[in-house]
Amino acid sequence: MSVNIAIDGTAGSGKGTIAKRLALELGFFCLDTGAIYRSVAYAVVNAKINLENEEEIKQLIQNLDFKVVFEKDADGKQVQKNILNGEDLGQKIRTEEISEASSNVAQLPFVREFATKIQHEIAKNFNVIVEGRDIGTVVLPNANFKFFLTASVEVRADRRLKQLNLPQERFNDVLKEIKERDYRDMNRAISPLKIADDAIYVDNSNQTLEETISYILSFIKI
Ligand code: C5P
Repeated sequence: MSVNIAIDGTAGSGKGTIAKRLALELGFFCLDTGAIYRSVAYAVVNAKINLENEEEIKQLIQNLDFKVVFEKDADGKQVQKNILNGEDLGQKIRTEEISEASSNVAQLPFVREFATKIQHEIAKNFNVIVEGRDIGTVVLPNANFKFFLTASVEVRADRRLKQLNLPQERFNDVLKEIKERDYRDMNRAISPLKIADDAIYVDNSNQTLEETISYILSFIKI
């Protein structure tokens, strides 16, 4: 039986970086589930479909040629590739436009079903850290370990600013965008972002990356 570790949390909580590091320490794959929603959003935007047009999005999903694969990079690290129509989407899914669009498409039940199916398949076959919003609550309620990561909204906005290499003047825009995304993620009708009853809550506002990683590892006994 494969071992599954669920890491949920808010945008900018550092869960992506932390999940990747944990995977490296434990020799697990790391599945970034947000990348699946981002890839769907990219496909929708690329096809010039209006984000309100559920019917067209549904049709697009039915014929979507998309898969997640893991490949070793030059340093021997396992990395996730998100392949749409045979093309690795790489950084194309990391723009602000796609961030915005992904939290919109993620509200659609058929998009969540599509993404969840891919996640189940990977979790069944591999020891994997699965990172997202609804992993401990909906996708893998029986995960072996569950964590919920967050930090104050200001700390998260600051991290995002640095990550995207944006000037300080953009702080308020990024703060607003994060608050809106939190609101959408926490208030959507299906699979809202919430803390699983049995998840370990980690507020890392005042922790370094290394502190958070050691703290989480201290709970994982395999
Ligand atoms: O984690 P990331 O910011 O890349 O996720 C992009 C968007 O995908 C999130 O804002 C969220 O709306 C959605 N998402 C989700 N469920 C997940 C992962 C991401 O709804 N498990």
